[in-house]
Amino acid sequence: MSAPASVISPRSVADKSEKSALLKAIRMALEIESPAVRHNTQTFNRARYEAIAAIPDYNALKDRARAIKEAAIARLPQLLEQVEASVRRNGGQFFLAKDGAEASAYITRVCGERQVRLVVKGKSMTSEEIHLNRHLAEAGIEVAETDLAEFILQVADEQPSHLVGPAIHYSRERITALFKRTFKTDLPLDSGEELTRFAREILRQKFLNADAGISGANFVTADTGSIVLVESEGNIRLTSQLPTLHIAIAGVEKVLPSRKDLAIFIELLAPSSTGQGLTSYTSILTPPLTSAPVLADRAQTREFHLVLVDNGRLGMREDPVLHETLYCIRCSACLNSCANFQTVGGHAFGGETYSGGIGGSWEAGTNDLLKARFNELCTGCTRCINQCPVRIDIPWLNSNLRERINQRDAAHSAGFLQKVLGSQAEDKASIPKIFFGRYDLFGKWGARLAPLSNWASRLPGNRNLMEGIFGVDRRRDLPPFAAKTLAHAAQKVAPAGRPNRGRVAVFPDIFTNYGSPERGLAAIEVFREVGIEVVLTDVSADGRASLSQGLIQTAKKQAEKTSRILLKHIREGREIVVIEPSVLAMFRLDNRHFLERNSFEEIRAHSFEAVEYLWRVLQERQLDPQEFFSASRHPLGTRLFYHSHCQQKTIGAAEPTESLLRAAGFDVVTSRVECCGMAGSFGYKKEFYDLSMAVGEDLFNQVRGAELDGGLRTLVATGISCQEQIHAGLQRKVFHPMEVLAKITRTKPD
Ligand code: SF4
Ligand code: SF4
Repeated sequence: MSAPASVISPRSVADKSEKSALLKAIRMALEIESPAVRHNTQTFNRARYEAIAAIPDYNALKDRARAIKEAAIARLPQLLEQVEASVRRNGGQFFLAKDGAEASAYITRVCGERQVRLVVKGKSMTSEEIHLNRHLAEAGIEVAETDLAEFILQVADEQPSHLVGPAIHYSRERITALFKRTFKTDLPLDSGEELTRFAREILRQKFLNADAGISGANFVTADTGSIVLVESEGNIRLTSQLPTLHIAIAGVEKVLPSRKDLAIFIELLAPSSTGQGLTSYTSILTPPLTSAPVLADRAQTREFHLVLVDNGRLGMREDPVLHETLYCIRCSACLNSCANFQTVGGHAFGGETYSGGIGGSWEAGTNDLLKARFNELCTGCTRCINQCPVRIDIPWLNSNLRERINQRDAAHSAGFLQKVLGSQAEDKASIPKIFFGRYDLFGKWGARLAPLSNWASRLPGNRNLMEGIFGVDRRRDLPPFAAKTLAHAAQKVAPAGRPNRGRVAVFPDIFTNYGSPERGLAAIEVFREVGIEVVLTDVSADGRASLSQGLIQTAKKQAEKTSRILLKHIREGREIVVIEPSVLAMFRLDNRHFLERNSFEEIRAHSFEAVEYLWRVLQERQLDPQEFFSASRHPLGTRLFYHSHCQQKTIGAAEPTESLLRAAGFDVVTSRVECCGMAGSFGYKKEFYDLSMAVGEDLFNQVRGAELDGGLRTLVATGISCQEQIHAGLQRKVFHPMEVLAKITRTKPD
């Protein structure tokens, strides 16, 4: 029998090379850590949105930051030589460690030679990565973590659950219980102030008695040998300046060419991280310092060592995909904007050191590929992409990690099924991954065999079988296969009798075509009502489903085939209209990895979400939406709750739906979640069903809240999986916006 979640320690499941550890960690996090993680990450996330909105040239800043990082990583070997020369010129010591063992040995030796007995330490993820504390302890050197969160974790013997707020999984009550249990104190410790005062008393003694200080470094400048320390508690300032021996440790990727580069990164880091304009303390030091507040009774000679750690990073630099990881400035925006991370935090969505969407790449690069298995929690929702100050395509990194892990798992893979399903030979994967990745084939045959396939898929015995073989959770309602696909049913829609106000080719994506043709039919009906000429393109798998499972070669082949279909229509003068937002995200975003640049740009410029295109036509031709879609004629009333798909938001195609619905006279409340938790196939998987539903709770609660003021609202969502998720949570029908508009056109008086 498996252990109850309450007795699973985070450290025991930090190594998630085995899937079972990942699943245990999710259970533990949902049961114990979720409320605190949710509160803290969402608070950071809200503050981040506000902070970046106040930066006038935010996008230009991001472009410049990205360009600096690209250039720095491209010439990293030279920069390392330069920074060494600068540090030595300043009177400090420099050590380039090829791995964690070498870095730890160097630091331990330096401390040993100076008879260091007590080290005060500022927060440093690199020191976590190389297990520095353990090495020092084995040498008889006491290490005192001085960041309050790190202090809590040291007391609890846990690994960080977040890049910036390592103890965000702790509520105040849990910290009180931990301190009382550990320090056997009768002090009340019932507020943040009391807890901080209590920790400060302990740490003050440590600072006063410390023989050495070890800090990290947010940035290191090659031209001056300066280090930047960004913090909110002031403990790193004391760590780096109070003891006469200061050792700074950082990954080699932290080196920037010049001190002049710092301004951009300092301007971006705090807003992206905690939502502050600037953190409480930002120190730019060029050690060894001569004017630091060294205690009067100590020798005034100060000693400084900069230890830069390779530990796989120079290898990542050569990796065609993982090299992008080295641009990361560890701001944590990608963690805080991630719905899955907001729900379980880094003890589930994280490894031994690094967490969140970017954490998998760090673990794979500095540790081992299989330690990145937790990247399975990246649903590819893309919400983090626009939040990253250096524009890292995090879901793309995770798809590639998934592909590589699929290859490592290949011994258990479904070679036979793979051949039957025509996946690319390079795409080895488990049966569930092939099942979810090749929905185009299952959808095609399911639709061909409907209604038999629908009847069979509802039989309890078959659901058990599907759960056992394909990993489809039996608690999920399965959307029925369409007996008449969109491609088939569309032939019967009457042609338009109005002036030509546009020409579109609707792309019958596989989800709409085989699973929800009524959305596509509604769109055709609406377009024709407005006077837009509509044809359907050929049906083709676009690659979205394959990409999400790490079947990258298959996705590429599908993307290429689909692009030929789309380009033919574009060159005949039609715009491409897509019903399913995740497929539109393929055309506007992901295909940059698969298609030749010109083709990608051409398709990107001519592809639209259905309502986005409609809104554009209405605006360009100055047509009144109420003439066609007056909300007063909607049979279910004018009150709506609208949830836009995560990828639709990322590609900037969500807002037109809201605008059009409001212009038509609807009273619209919109969801404020990053993602509904379903995220394509993610919520169907038996391993992730509970997490998916826990993520969905925020959205369900927002709907409930929006209905407190006067009854039900018609539920509207653009993504097919969002519709399924909202239906699962609230047991009510959910409509595509085009279905809402089509209902109105059907009520129009002759
Ligand atoms: S793509 Fe979505 S799920 Fe993946 S890391 Fe980014 S926000 Fe999280
Ligand atoms: S990947 Fe980007 S958003 Fe995430 S921590 Fe790194 S810099 Fe920040």
